[in-house]
Amino acid sequence: MVDFVVYGRGSFDQLDEIITPHRKPSLPMVFLVDHFFANENGKWLTDRIPAKNNDRIIFANVTLEPKTSYVDKLAADLKAEFGSVSGIVGIGGGSTMDLAKAVSLMMNNEGSSADYQGWDLVKKPGVYKVGIPTLSGTGAEVSRTCVLTGPTKKLGMNSDFTPFDQIVLDPTLTSNAPHNQRFYTGMDCYIHCIESLEGTYLNEFSKSYGEKALELCRKVFVQKNEWDDECDDQLMMASYAGGMSIAYSQVGVAHAVSYGLSYLLGTKHGIGNCIVMNHLEDYYPAAVKEFKQMVEKNQIEIPVGLCANLSEEQFDTMINVSIGMKPLWENALGKDWEKIITRSKLRALFEKF
Ligand code: NAD
Ligand code: ZN
Repeated sequence: MVDFVVYGRGSFDQLDEIITPHRKPSLPMVFLVDHFFANENGKWLTDRIPAKNNDRIIFANVTLEPKTSYVDKLAADLKAEFGSVSGIVGIGGGSTMDLAKAVSLMMNNEGSSADYQGWDLVKKPGVYKVGIPTLSGTGAEVSRTCVLTGPTKKLGMNSDFTPFDQIVLDPTLTSNAPHNQRFYTGMDCYIHCIESLEGTYLNEFSKSYGEKALELCRKVFVQKNEWDDECDDQLMMASYAGGMSIAYSQVGVAHAVSYGLSYLLGTKHGIGNCIVMNHLEDYYPAAVKEFKQMVEKNQIEIPVGLCANLSEEQFDTMINVSIGMKPLWENALGKDWEKIITRSKLRALFEKF
């Protein structure tokens, strides 16, 4: 779990005070910032980053979701220039936060980040790392994974060393995100809750957090008619609680299938989950009904026709990636999941997108 959590509107301005005790003589603090904030529009945030001396602000290119090759390059460049760093502060959406976690780990672990895609393969703790979300929903701020696309798979570096040492949850940082993006990332949280609460791995810990997160998602996307400050506050806490819920359970069908889509087509996590959830009546009937109501109420158009012209080989790739997510299927469908979810069933599902 994350050791230190600060929450509150404007809490971003405590960052200097928070990181100062973790500065090491002559080693820089690295601020890995979502490239969305690289231009004039982002100055309201970047001007408040407490960079000093040889600190470095690096804008993370998150046009594509994080790749192991990008993580390796960022870590190798920092090692070549400084030897080591005092810490990595990731400021951005789930992609930037995952990059920050992965780069922190790769500062102290040998080889390529691709070697550590899996469960409990990371050998040593990373450098001090801080996560500061500018989008709410992924739960990347609390999770023990950082999802990476590698040469052969899309899978996180899941380990006890992966969670941030500190997070700063300041809902004002999410306030001017585009409506669609806010919905897609917010639905990631909603789907985490459904998959956790309806999964076989559920226990009282994950249930307590999942129920609270689901309640907050409903306040934001079902009950509210217009976006306001309270929505930012509530969705940030929903993301945190949703992340805590899956930390002690697992995600399920929507994620397993959406990983296949994103591996082959590069479909982004939030939107991919929405595309899949739209067709999961057989697995989560009540939630899919509610999901469709939220899509309509929030006037979102879910893309269609993604798989219209794919080859046999491409369908096979998606099915392989998806069916490889064993813990997700087991959580969703129980120990006998392989008897329930067949390749032909998955193929029929992919054909709907
Ligand atoms: P994202 O980080 O991919 O960002 C989406 C877009 O929004 C980007 O173009 C980004 O530049 C922009 N953006 C970020 N903050 C903004 C702001 N305040 N205003 C306007 N634009 C902003 O989106 P996401 O949905 O937060 O994260 C998805 C990523 O998180 C995927 O890579 C996924 O694999 C990962 N993820 C990780 C976990 C985990 O537990 N580690 C869980 C779920 C998802
Ligand atoms: Zn997710």
